[in-house]
Amino acid sequence: MTKAAELTPGSPQGARPAPRYVVSGCLAGLCCRYDGGSNPCPEVVKLVEAGLAVPVCPESLSGLPVPRPPCEQVPGGPDKNEIRVLSRDGADVTAAFKLGARRALEAALATDCRGAILKARSPSCGVGTVYDGSFSHTLRPGDGLWARLLREAGFSLWTEDDLPPGLGA
Ligand code: SF4
Repeated sequence: MTKAAELTPGSPQGARPAPRYVVSGCLAGLCCRYDGGSNPCPEVVKLVEAGLAVPVCPESLSGLPVPRPPCEQVPGGPDKNEIRVLSRDGADVTAAFKLGARRALEAALATDCRGAILKARSPSCGVGTVYDGSFSHTLRPGDGLWARLLREAGFSLWTEDDLPPGLGA
């Protein structure tokens, strides 16, 4: 049951609460993952059902199909700060991933949310660590492309492994 404190301030009693978080679509149970699956996180699903979170999938907003080949970030350039995104079959999908990240940022900014709960390790949504481009489940430090834009826009970032205080175990 939604608590009174979760209702929009000043809204009539019983009105829908204001969303607090944008969340990765796959954590909310949307089948937007590269293989057509999802990664439902019970706490995130409950937030969406209560109207407290808005699901967004940057890779869906990129125009890439579902299913699609798995993709990972590949650092390049002399200082390894240039990020490209390659599919496992070698296609360069950097432009599509950047487009999806920009569109997803716009979707997030259109809400009043200033927090995000994102899918850990994803090339778009990962927070603090992402797969390293070797397709061997090896991690390296870095944010997903959408996560980076959200961080730069001032959002507080969490993942399903590190939920906001009060939501996790
Ligand atoms: S881009 Fe993000 S929301 Fe979309 S499927 Fe990948 S991890 Fe989930």
